[in-house]
Amino acid sequence: MAKIPVAEGIFTASSNEPQLIGSRCGACGIVTFPAQASCPRCASTDMAEHLLARRGRLWAWTTQEFPPPSPPYTGPSGDDFVSYGVGYVALGDEVRVEARLTETDGLETGMEMELVLVPFRTDEQGNEVVTFAFQPVG
Ligand SMILES: [Zn+2]
Repeated sequence: MAKIPVAEGIFTASSNEPQLIGSRCGACGIVTFPAQASCPRCASTDMAEHLLARRGRLWAWTTQEFPPPSPPYTGPSGDDFVSYGVGYVALGDEVRVEARLTETDGLETGMEMELVLVPFRTDEQGNEVVTFAFQPVG
């Protein structure tokens, strides 16, 4: 069974130390995630790929109690759906990333979080589709 990313260009393929793929504006320095072709602050198109830090601090979170609208959501639904945490993680002072969290309990504002890849669904060919999430460090 192969592991394939839920989408191309979102995170690096390393399953040990994945990194989110953002972009950085060459004109004003703002970092975005996901990567964008033009800067949301100064409209420059001088955007370069920028790999984000793997660790950050939990800024805010909630629990997703029901499947998001589909499309774009393609994960488990109905009786197969399991609630999951979702939150914002501040990666240094560069950017806040909205992401799935591996936990729904025991979360605290400011706790250190680390990027991991987690199973999302199994596709028609039997491949394991993985997505990214943040898990508490330690
Ligand atoms: Zn800019």
